[in-house]
Amino acid sequence: MKKLLVILLMIPLLGFSQRDWSKIEIDTTELTPGLHRLFVANAVSVVVFHGDDGTLVIDAAYEQSAERLMGKIMNLTDQPVKYLINTHLHADHTGGNKLIGREADIIAHPTVKEFLSQEQRRGDNIIPAFPEYAVPNILVDDNMDLEFNGERIQITHLPGGHTEGDLIVYFQEANVAVLGDLLFAGFFPFVDTNNGGHPVQFMENVERIINLFPAEVTFIGGHGPIFNHDDLQNWHNDLAQTFAVVREARDRGLSIEEMKNQRILKKWEEMGNFFITEDRWIETIYPYL
Ligand SMILES: [Zn+2]
Repeated sequence: MKKLLVILLMIPLLGFSQRDWSKIEIDTTELTPGLHRLFVANAVSVVVFHGDDGTLVIDAAYEQSAERLMGKIMNLTDQPVKYLINTHLHADHTGGNKLIGREADIIAHPTVKEFLSQEQRRGDNIIPAFPEYAVPNILVDDNMDLEFNGERIQITHLPGGHTEGDLIVYFQEANVAVLGDLLFAGFFPFVDTNNGGHPVQFMENVERIINLFPAEVTFIGGHGPIFNHDDLQNWHNDLAQTFAVVREARDRGLSIEEMKNQRILKKWEEMGNFFITEDRWIETIYPYL
């Protein structure tokens, strides 16, 4: 059963295999001059920052959307991609590395290099190891500052939330923080406990982010709409309440099945509309309460 769950869980990360990739939308939002959020297939965020020094890209989305994404980046600038940052190891953020990162230095936590350098098995699918040019070559264990296009870009490792190797990226001048999958904006998050994630640590990392950044900051999550500081606080409050409700139900002696049948998280049903459903969220947090 556990194996089946893991397989089911990995399928959406592979990237919508039924999808017609020639028809996906990539919406572009300008955050500040030179800094854009590209929203791939209404699902995954990519951030593009271009200027005289070249182009920096955060996350490469799916392998199947890489050509379309590269086309969109080239509509914004003819400067080459000098840096590609992978916020973490999942295929919907690293799949495009082979194209987007071909000429670039790729920056990530060491766990991302380790993961992409090995053959990956997902159910019956075997995904070969990435070629060396598509694997991170600049590794961030803790934090790193980058001066680029007149910006100070701060890269920080927040361990053990969504995965072991989550990086967040802050553009100081623009006051934009890119959070990777520590933010599923408006939705229950996926917590990858097979790759070092932990639901309680996830909540602590989000709280740390809330305290770390000023009130006027713009937050870009790996998934979902663009958030401001209040939005992030409200999302954290909602998630904290779901923890409390599940804990209280467990203390009353309810099983996971009974919690699902009684829909104890019905109040937050809209948060289950993306990837992690109400039921999956109960399953995610119950063992860690
Ligand atoms: Zn992820």
